[in-house]
Amino acid sequence: MNFSDSEIVASILIDNNYELAEKFSDADLLLINTCSIRDNAEKRVRNRLKEFVSLKIKKPEMVIGIIGCMAERLKEKLFEEEKAVDLIIGPDAYRDLPKLLTKIESGQKAANIILSEEETYADIKPVRYGSNGVSAFISIMRGCENFCSYCVVPYTRGKERSRNIDSIIDEAKSLLKDGYSEITLLGQNVNSYRWKKDGREFNFTELIENVALINPLLRVRFTTSHPKDISDELIETIAKHKNICNSIHLPVQSGSNSVLKRMNRKYTREWYLNRIEKIKELTPDCGLTTDIISGFCGETEFEHNETISIMKKVGYDFAFMFKYSERPNTAAEKKFKDDVTEEIKKRRLKEIIELQQELSHKSNLRDIGKTFEVLVEGVSKRSTEDLSGRNSQNKVVVFPKRNFKKGDYVNVEIIDCTSATLIGVSL
Ligand code: SAH
Ligand code: SF4
Repeated sequence: MNFSDSEIVASILIDNNYELAEKFSDADLLLINTCSIRDNAEKRVRNRLKEFVSLKIKKPEMVIGIIGCMAERLKEKLFEEEKAVDLIIGPDAYRDLPKLLTKIESGQKAANIILSEEETYADIKPVRYGSNGVSAFISIMRGCENFCSYCVVPYTRGKERSRNIDSIIDEAKSLLKDGYSEITLLGQNVNSYRWKKDGREFNFTELIENVALINPLLRVRFTTSHPKDISDELIETIAKHKNICNSIHLPVQSGSNSVLKRMNRKYTREWYLNRIEKIKELTPDCGLTTDIISGFCGETEFEHNETISIMKKVGYDFAFMFKYSERPNTAAEKKFKDDVTEEIKKRRLKEIIELQQELSHKSNLRDIGKTFEVLVEGVSKRSTEDLSGRNSQNKVVVFPKRNFKKGDYVNVEIIDCTSATLIGVSL
């Protein structure tokens, strides 16, 4: 999400005669796009700022800006806490950047942290810097109104709003024309995408189907689906179109009904498992990934073990796993005590990570002998003799280069694996 925002910011600046610098030390303007999701993310930003302050000492005219969620959360307070910061911009105010930079030129600090109910940056063509030239992200909506009790996003990114369907389709077509072969539709809860056009409403299933129909050689992915909203219709559509990838990221957060209730996730363990059953029934080879939070307020050993048991039941291919980090002003901070000790959080997280490694390895072992269509993303990090790409399930596949190149679709038979990678040979 943040990466996608950085591409929009780059586009706004380039339209105003800025250029991307090669090195931090060359830059006249340094913008740090920030995330507030966990305390650690904010700590990393503050450490990064220290590095930039030393650059600014050597080059006092350098402008330093904090943009994104941390800017939104801390607002002008950041000027007091971080003296080197000249500019603070929240996620809905990027269009104001040129004006604010002019203000800074006249020697003042500048901020805009106003959230919008409409801004989607639909008309801005993101600058795909740092991209592999094969896969790209398209933001289809902004904000979130789910108010999971632990989460800061509804406060830092504002109201949920969908982007104009035509602008999404146009962006996908233009990416295809520029040589991209894979796009990921992005939103905090893509299943609540809605757009009214010519007197009718398009939902996420219709959007993804329209994107998939652009060209069968354009792979389509999406993230994130909230388990409460993932519909049979969407799963059927994934099954129907070969170029909609068989890969679903369905953050479970916890396997315990009582924890899910405290988290305000609005689904139960049974509901979640029913959705998984439906996915497995309609798309048996679908890759399943998740997010898990360990040590949420009041989590007992029994509740933790329910998370362990749901992980085993689903058999995830991959998971992002986090220790609960209390965020200021969220419902959880106001209503519950962050009472699971750091030691217990760490131990439970370790158990979760170890189990996931085992599950990922088992899932990869099951793929040995199978053949997948792999979209090549580039040369493998481990060896220049190998290429690396992803299969529809979103697993990384490495195989000998031969005459293939970035952007090719290659049929690869899997002959070996680690817990993170499938190793194969092209057919
Ligand atoms: N909208 C997405 C998630 C976005 S945040 C969804 O609902 O699935 C990505 C992940 O960060 C979340 O799924 C959650 O697992 C984690 N996360 C969010 N707030 C957190 C917190 N306070 N502490 C620890 N992890 C958190
Ligand atoms: Fe946060 Fe929940 Fe919204 Fe995801 S759905 S961004 S976890 S509030």
